[in-house]
Amino acid sequence: MKKLFALLLTFLAIPFLLHAQEAQTYIIKAGKIFDAEKGVFLESRDILVEGKVIKEMGRNLKPGKGVTVIDLTDHTVIPGLIDSHTHLLTDLAPDKNTIGGTVEYITTQDGAYRALRSVKLLESYLAAGFTTVKDLGNSGMFLDVSLSNAIDEGFIRGPRMFASGPILSSVGGQFLGLSHDYGHLAATEYRIIKSPDDARFAVREHINYGTDLIKICADNSPNNTALTRDEMQAIVEMAHGFGKKVTAHANSPASITSAVLAGVDGIEHGYRIDDASLALMAKHDVYLVPTDYHVAPIGIKYHKDGGWTDEQANSFKQVLNKRLQSAEKQQVKIVFGSDIYVDFGMSRGDAAKNVFVAYLDAGIPAHKILQYATSNAAEFIGAKDKLGVLKPNAIADIVAYKGDLEKDFNNIFNKAAFVAKNGEILINHTGTTTTTGSQK
Ligand SMILES: [Zn+2]
Repeated sequence: MKKLFALLLTFLAIPFLLHAQEAQTYIIKAGKIFDAEKGVFLESRDILVEGKVIKEMGRNLKPGKGVTVIDLTDHTVIPGLIDSHTHLLTDLAPDKNTIGGTVEYITTQDGAYRALRSVKLLESYLAAGFTTVKDLGNSGMFLDVSLSNAIDEGFIRGPRMFASGPILSSVGGQFLGLSHDYGHLAATEYRIIKSPDDARFAVREHINYGTDLIKICADNSPNNTALTRDEMQAIVEMAHGFGKKVTAHANSPASITSAVLAGVDGIEHGYRIDDASLALMAKHDVYLVPTDYHVAPIGIKYHKDGGWTDEQANSFKQVLNKRLQSAEKQQVKIVFGSDIYVDFGMSRGDAAKNVFVAYLDAGIPAHKILQYATSNAAEFIGAKDKLGVLKPNAIADIVAYKGDLEKDFNNIFNKAAFVAKNGEILINHTGTTTTTGSQK
């Protein structure tokens, strides 16, 4: 048995070895870069990448012998974008964003099919400029963990994935209207929590099966129940004991307050958040992931499905804008999350970036939006200084868009011209010639 195990480990190591052999050294000559920590753009910077990390940054770095130089002088270079709220194992057809459509989806598409479908979504994320995603459930039973492993092992391409596994939720999950006879269907997508002890066990299950973090439904809106404070406290204590963060779907001020007092690290959505709960979040250093949406084209689809009038849609948009402004005012830490799980007739990566428009509509400046999707997101993941920044010793996740993002932020809605993840160049449409240095 031991021999078999050793052989298995050898096979598992092969993809990593292959990656190690592909490690490159190159210098990027950037016209402009985004300093995510300071939230400012800097002109004419060079980035030396060695293997998986940024080795050096500065002006006029001299390429050593055999070092490739990539000319991005007419591009803006930013850290790889991070989407902190994805559902890559769910891809509902536009007319199926209903409870019936969801039940049909989970009962007619098996895990393998869902995972294979997500390969296209992952590619679209890379093309849009995302090198990291945090996948927060609705992924069957740990399909997200498998997908994440397949990416790390190099079997498929995609942003690195931090996977939550099934969402820990009160009875019913988020399947509104399931009758008692079919209540068990919720447990195929959610880990239904029955008590604080069960909550502790569920966290250990998740950690055992390889999740990177824990996602809970503080309230499981659109359903009307919620986890108790005791259950959430049990989850947080156990998860933190294993060094894992906990983030909570929560919409009402009551459930946000309860989750924050239970010790969660983040609140997802917070659509009906009030000033008092924002103040509590600021006090406890809890992140807000405002999964807002632009009115067109995505919002229109949601509103149509929900039977909203234009007036209702616009007034809800005003509520969202105000809450984002209040969160900024109260200095709540904000992280970008898209929460897209419907096919909106555009690539998933592009649909995710559409959420930037919602933030712009709320009056958030471009440099802050970029921080939401880079340095703030990295801090929330627990990867400060490693992801979401361009600086020495950071992981070389580097993305470039043609043109000047500082003067024309709309460039970010284009496909990324250059994408490197872990130093490996995955996309290079820059059309620039590369030269190789001759100095030692
Ligand atoms: Zn979600």
